[in-house]
Amino acid sequence: MRFTVLGCHSPFPGPGGATPGYLLEAGGKRILIDCGSGVLAQLGKMISPWDLDGVILSHLHHDHISDFFVLQYAIMTAMKLKKRTSPLPVWAPEKPGHWYSKLSFGNYIEKHIIKEGLTVDVGDLLNIRFYRTDHGIPCYAMNITDGTHSILYGADSGVNTNWELMTDSPDLFICEATYLDQDLPPGPTGHLSAKQAARAANRIQTKQLLLTHFFPGYEPEQIQQEAETVFAGKCRIAASGLQIDL
Ligand SMILES: [Zn+2]
Repeated sequence: MRFTVLGCHSPFPGPGGATPGYLLEAGGKRILIDCGSGVLAQLGKMISPWDLDGVILSHLHHDHISDFFVLQYAIMTAMKLKKRTSPLPVWAPEKPGHWYSKLSFGNYIEKHIIKEGLTVDVGDLLNIRFYRTDHGIPCYAMNITDGTHSILYGADSGVNTNWELMTDSPDLFICEATYLDQDLPPGPTGHLSAKQAARAANRIQTKQLLLTHFFPGYEPEQIQQEAETVFAGKCRIAASGLQIDL
């Protein structure tokens, strides 16, 4: 499997950056996970958007879906120019219904609903299983395997997310680090600090932690330092273009 970061900022992209989006490639299939602001421009550096085999949207907050609405235009244009013959499959939670309904676009998009425990096979290799996280709207983490290696993508998640239910010792855990610990709001937010992400990584004994979904004004070194106080030597910070091969 090859996992490429397209965007890692939140809730808005920094200069030249993008909010969450990741390209997953295995067995000749190409899946886009989340499609935030700026993701399409990053994706185009690697592949044409009409060559995607599917899109998974972990949840329907704007920083994870805003570029999906121009991806619809890319697919429409490609189908009209006969560069693509089939609609683009997209998996997403059905709530909020207002946003789920907007994922449809003529005959160019084929929608599927994500629910707790749903498993999706893509091609001969990829198996993806979905789990609800602790977030303000329905949001799903995904455990991805190719039969040999495993990736847990945590999407957006608060401290009450049950990571142990999803996986044990994954090869790669992609977890949000929305805050530095010093900036954590007092109440529950459905988000994690870098330190809390590192504690989650420690609990599931991941081989590698990739921290993402951070404020573009933070220095990556600050995030890394905070996570390393809990989970030393196994933390990386996401950046557009970063590729991890498993
Ligand atoms: Zn988000």
